[in-house]
Formats: sequence, C-alpha cells, structure tokens
Amino acid sequence: MVDRLPRYAAGKPPVAVDGLASYKLSSNENPLPPIPAVVEAIAAQTDFNRYPDPLSTKLRTALAGFLDVPAEDIVTGAGSLGALTQLLTTFAGQNDDGKPDEVIYAWRSFEAYPICVGLAGAESVRTPVTADGRHDLEAMAAAVTARTRVILLCTPNNPTGPILTAEETERFIKAVPSDVVVVIDEAYQEFVRAEDAVDGIRMYRKYPNVVVLRTFSKAHGLAGLRVGYSVSQPQLTQHLRVAATPFAVSQIAEQAAVVSLQNFGQVVERVQSLVAERDRVTAGLRDLGWFVPDAQGNFVWLDLGDDSAEFAQLAGERALSVRAFGNEGVRVSVGEVEANTRFLELCKVYTKPPRRS
Ligand SMILES: *Cc1c(COP(=O)(O)O)cnc(C)c1O
Repeated sequence: MVDRLPRYAAGKPPVAVDGLASYKLSSNENPLPPIPAVVEAIAAQTDFNRYPDPLSTKLRTALAGFLDVPAEDIVTGAGSLGALTQLLTTFAGQNDDGKPDEVIYAWRSFEAYPICVGLAGAESVRTPVTADGRHDLEAMAAAVTARTRVILLCTPNNPTGPILTAEETERFIKAVPSDVVVVIDEAYQEFVRAEDAVDGIRMYRKYPNVVVLRTFSKAHGLAGLRVGYSVSQPQLTQHLRVAATPFAVSQIAEQAAVVSLQNFGQVVERVQSLVAERDRVTAGLRDLGWFVPDAQGNFVWLDLGDDSAEFAQLAGERALSVRAFGNEGVRVSVGEVEANTRFLELCKVYTKPPRRS
C-alpha cells in the first residue's frame, strides 16, 4: 500500500546564483523568525531528560483562554498534520468488509491530504476546484456516499488561495449527513482579511461533527518545532484523544507556542506586514493583467498550466525557489520584501501570463 502513496515533495531550497541573495518561496513558511520572547523561552529550557506532558496541559489551557473554548475540546499534535493524521486514523480506514472508507476533499488542495488519507487505509475522493480556485461545495456534497466518513475543507485553500465563506460553509455542513466528520483546516486563518470568511471555531460551537485544525507553523513562524491542534466537541474529541500519539508535542514546542500566544500582539503585527506584502504582490500581478485567484493566505497561485515548470526554472535562475505543481500551476509564498519584488520583476518580463481557465 505504502508504495502506491504519492510522495510529499517538500519545498526546495533555492539554488545559489552569484551576486544574488537566495530566497525560499516554496513552502509557505513565515520568512520572519519567531518573536524574541519565544527564542528566549526556548534557550532557557534544559530539562530535556524528562518526557513532555503528554496532554500538553499548559498549551491547551492557554489555547482555551485564547479561543474561549473548554480545554477538553482541544487535542494537540505534531503540527496540524499530526492532528489530521490522528483524526483520519480515528475516523476513516478499512471497513470490516475489507472496503476502504471514503474521504472527500477538493483538488488541488493540500498536498499532504492524499498521503494522510492513504496511510489511514481510506480512499481519496477528489472534487476539482472551480476555475477561480474555490471549493465546489455542491459537487463535494453530491460526492457523499454511504462510505464517506470524513470531508476535508481547506480555507484558505492551499495552494489556490481563496477562503470559504461562512454562509456557504454552514449551508454545506447542514447538507451533509451529521455522522460525517467535517474538518475545517485553517492553517492560514490569521492571514485572512475577507470579511465573509468562515470562522471554523464558530462552526465547531454549533455543529458536533465539525473539527477545526489550526497550527503554529505559519502565522507564529514555528514550522520547525511541529505544533498544531484540533478543536471539536466531546463526542469527537474523546475518540481523538485515545488515538493521539503519546508525547507528540515536545516541551520546547509547547513552551514556544504558549509564549507566542502570550505575545499574540507581536505575532499579529508580523502577520499584518506579510498581508500587506501579499496584497502588494497580488495587486502587482493584476496590474500586469495576470489572473490571480483571491489570495487570503501567505501565498499566491499562478494558473500557468504547461508553463509551470518553465516558470519555476526561470525563478530558480533568479535565486527564488517557488513551487510548481505538475502542469497545473505554481504557488509562490509571500517572503521577504526583496524576494517579493524580485518575483514581480520576473513576472513583468514573463510573456505567458496565467489566465482564468
Ligand atoms: C502548512 C499547512 C498545514 C500545517 O501543517 P503543520 O503540520 O501544522 O506544519 C496544514 N494544512 C495546510 C492546508 C497547510 O498548508
């Protein structure tokens, strides 16, 4: 089974080009380091001979206050991918009759989904995103069968960028059977500025079959420490906790996340600087007449089709690593100001712009 899984292609580091600083715009990382208080808190730790708290009690308590939810409704994991893996292992797999459960998600969406679904022993059911990179929720609802156990919603969608609205998400949740788990993956939630965007936490409060995934990897700039979490009502959370990998969150990661939450104002300032850069990049591309789907994460999507590899190659020659997905398109993360400007300069001289397909 494992040899049939797609491979996760991690974002490549940039190639060195003489005289140019290299920038990695291929993994949607935060280009800014963690805030100083986090770095200090990490440096102050020494008791690594001890196991971490398996329940991440300090972090879950801090998150409970931050989100205004009961700590019991939060399960931490090694990144939100760890939390997602737990969730799929718990709710989707092989049936007694030997047939796999089905997990529905939009495509293209997060590259890790097919791998996590396959590892759980379940089968992926993919519904294509619309020409402007949005989930086709009607098609997703229509794809539900008696075997469907989980549906993954990604908002903003990685790699295409648009959010799901509150209105359409709620309509969707009401339309699918209440015993199907609806996951709302909000890895980029802090970057969203669209006013009609769904707030997964509000959906979780209302619907017992909703699970929200959030992470410290993107806005908080802690991707290298691996810490994320899920939020769901007790009916689901009780099962998730049983399936949780013991000690998945290290004490360094837990402490860093707590301190980052305590200094959330500084995190927001950094996020705002990246949002401003995202909007500058998007506006710059549109000024060139390029079609760019609504970008609400820390990345933009270029629907370049067969030219994707060529564009990524040209970016590489300018010491920028970007992420080409086959012959579909290229995702470019918002990075340092100089990196974003260099990316825009490449686009100005590139003669085959993306169009709304
Ligand atoms: C980056 C990303 C994640 C975060 O993964 P972590 O395991 O928390 O680092 C989750 N979902 C999506 C859609 C992402 O793009």
